[in-house]
Amino acid sequence: MTQTPLIGLDLPEIQQLLGPDLPAYRARQIYHAIYRDRATSWDAITTLPQSLRQWLAEQFPLGLPTVSSEYSSSDRTRRYLLTLRDARTVEAVLMPEEGRDTICISTQIGCPVDCKFCLTALMGLERNLTAGEIAGQVMLLSSLHRIVPITGHLNVVMMGQGEPLLNLANVVKATRLLADKQGLAIPERRITVSTSGIIPKIEELGREPVRPRLAISLNASHEDQRREIMPITSKYHLKDLIEVCRAYPLRSWEKLTFEYVLLKGVNDTDADARRVVTLLGQLNAKVNLIALNPGPGIPFETPDPERVESFQSIVARSIPCFVRKPRGRDIYAACGQLKRMSGEPALPVLS
Ligand code: SAH
Ligand code: SF4
Repeated sequence: MTQTPLIGLDLPEIQQLLGPDLPAYRARQIYHAIYRDRATSWDAITTLPQSLRQWLAEQFPLGLPTVSSEYSSSDRTRRYLLTLRDARTVEAVLMPEEGRDTICISTQIGCPVDCKFCLTALMGLERNLTAGEIAGQVMLLSSLHRIVPITGHLNVVMMGQGEPLLNLANVVKATRLLADKQGLAIPERRITVSTSGIIPKIEELGREPVRPRLAISLNASHEDQRREIMPITSKYHLKDLIEVCRAYPLRSWEKLTFEYVLLKGVNDTDADARRVVTLLGQLNAKVNLIALNPGPGIPFETPDPERVESFQSIVARSIPCFVRKPRGRDIYAACGQLKRMSGEPALPVLS
């Protein structure tokens, strides 16, 4: 008996898996039921005859993750600890907002990139997620909250656990499944992938016909500073990272996003802000500033709001620059805080 989960397969793969005896229209019905209608069990797919549903249920798990814990923030953010088929767990976050929702998903369990300000780094890498496990997080959370992606202005950000570009094939396949008009139909422009700067993989991503928007975690204004806080800079130099960004094939509607985590007294001076402008000046870019979200074992502090404001105002003179509002800090759901935290004392939610 095969145990291939259906979620994660595209239509030709479903056709192939189910075998030549099943008419092609049945495979299409199954594809639509899973991805467009987000059926959570075979039983729910009432367009199929009962006998077929039963046969399918015996042969093929759907493969949706299950919720093992849920944490609610005072700002309405929800963090989910999800259990996968091998009993490992990973996190995804829902951030509801007026008129649109954002789902933040993981692409790996843990992360092998050793950024010094990030709680996920302390987990190390457990394993890559499959395409089905990546897309499944969106399918489960949107279905739990009755979000209809096509009308619900749903944004998906691959900014949870993991370095997405170290799992590029599965990230690209998951993006295709999420974006497919016959399925969830989340437009590419509403899906964003964030990377710590894996240069060869950025080039590879640029060649994909269907791909998310690209965000780069810049986080420093010069080479030495970046190497200190993101040791991966020794392998992929800041200078080369900026070069690959310059050559990146943007679509007509697209800008590169640069994320910059502000660490008090480390990379948050006005001089840093001016260097960021010089670095990015020639690019079609915007900058998202993130004041450090603290956590146990992170040897940095959050800068004062006045410092963040001053940094922003300098960058914003030349490049669109926004401060990302922390979401779900009190439940360890904000950027860089995903480490399966459970009973730890709550952090304040900042306004
Ligand atoms: N691994 C990818 C995506 C996940 S991290 C990446 O690094 O880009 C998502 C964002 O959170 C990144 O921009 C990262 O720089 C930022 N981040 C990590 N730790 C953080 C922290 N403690 N506070 C604020 N932002 C953090
Ligand atoms: Fe990994 Fe991103 Fe955290 Fe760096 S910031 S350790 S790349 S998840």
